[in-house]
Amino acid sequence: MPFEPLVPGQVGIYNCGPTVYDWQHIGNLYAYLVADVVRRSLEYLGYRVTQVMNITDVGHIVGDLDEGDDKMEVAARRERKDPLALAQMYTERFFVDRRKLNILDPLFVVKATEHVPQMIALIERLIEKGHAYAAADGVYYDVATFPGYGTRLNAELPEERMAGARVEVNPNKRHPQDFALWRAAKPGDLQQWDSPWGRGNPGWHIECSAMSMEYLGETFDIHSGGQDHLFPHHECEIAQSEGATGKPFVRYWMHNRFLRVDSAKMAKSAGGFYQLGDIESWGFDPLAFRLLTLGTSYRKGVDFAREGLASAQARLDRWRSLVGEARQTTAAAAAGQEDAIRRRFVEAIADDFNTAKALAAAEDAVALLTSPEGADRARGLGLLFDMDRVFGLGLEAWTAQATALDDDVRALLDERAAARARGDYARSDQLRDELRRRGYLVKDTKEGQRWERIPPHKKEES
Ligand code: AMP
Ligand code: ZN
Repeated sequence: MPFEPLVPGQVGIYNCGPTVYDWQHIGNLYAYLVADVVRRSLEYLGYRVTQVMNITDVGHIVGDLDEGDDKMEVAARRERKDPLALAQMYTERFFVDRRKLNILDPLFVVKATEHVPQMIALIERLIEKGHAYAAADGVYYDVATFPGYGTRLNAELPEERMAGARVEVNPNKRHPQDFALWRAAKPGDLQQWDSPWGRGNPGWHIECSAMSMEYLGETFDIHSGGQDHLFPHHECEIAQSEGATGKPFVRYWMHNRFLRVDSAKMAKSAGGFYQLGDIESWGFDPLAFRLLTLGTSYRKGVDFAREGLASAQARLDRWRSLVGEARQTTAAAAAGQEDAIRRRFVEAIADDFNTAKALAAAEDAVALLTSPEGADRARGLGLLFDMDRVFGLGLEAWTAQATALDDDVRALLDERAAARARGDYARSDQLRDELRRRGYLVKDTKEGQRWERIPPHKKEES
């Protein structure tokens, strides 16, 4: 399916953001890595992108089908904190992790609690149009008024998620599948607002309809989330937005398959629930995790295992080392538009963001780095730095940092080169050890001494 944005040259993207009641696990982070690569790829291809991500700090209840308490309420009681303070804390932690992964900040990061008036206005519109009704315990969407409800995204629905199969049907609903737009406040609810239907709080689905349309308009280009959002979340968003506006809501839906640990969805209850901090504590660079996720399509998801992470780390180390070495003798040449390797890279990302294929093109650029020809090395560097605008591995920043030597390190290297030149190998070995203590690895090649900065996760071993 060719991609045609609503306005030529511009793309509006809405990413369903996190519910900030806890740490995000690496599966959640994977969803944002996918979103980041989509944004970077479209920018690379020349589009002007407006990226919006929400922060769910109210409204997401424990069960997906209107039963249970608000996740923020439960967490606030668990941690004895004010829900907004809790949301702030987990939002900050989320952004620390995102930045470690080189995930770019969206242009708009929008909190549900700051958009309650827009949600109320949207619910009023739905009531006016006959798509919603007020009941004793809140306002519900009347799914019978929206033909095709629940079938638009071809979600494979696990049976227990169908209303009525698992939970007792709420007698306030006209139809068991009707979903809450607004919930009347329960005694002790920490987050509640005034509304035409009394005090209460908004449903999770209405948040995303209201905030996406507020920032991107009633019809926009791309809306993303993980596979679990197909139903009910995104089917509900479609019913709400299209019910209220009568216009198409989203032109392209993108759902990433899950990151799986031992072939199971990563869930807290099942153990194997990892955070980025775990990856770091095993001695890996967060960017190795980023590189790992680039190896498959978002349509397949990621099978996460330590071995896979280790090989991604080895690949990242190899790239960094070769790039760093090449940079000592060559400057990057601007990547030519007609370069065959670059063309393959562009074709790959323009083909449904095929990052696995794009990595194969990158390996051909890496191979150029060891060429005896300076021009090849310059081309390889230029290509890699250019592609890295999409990969986001920070290669150029890494080598800039790795090639900026302190004066005293430079002096030690010069002294060592001089010692070797006069055949004083004992002194030269001493200096090699001294440099290693300072975090630099020295190699002797035919063209003379080469050095690289030892990556932080390797310092202990060397
Ligand atoms: P939540 O905070 O639960 O709303 O989830 C944040 C995002 O992570 C959503 O887009 C989810 O669909 C996505 N997600 C949750 N679990 C996984 C997983 N194991 N792999 C990939 N994405 C996930
Ligand atoms: Zn959402």
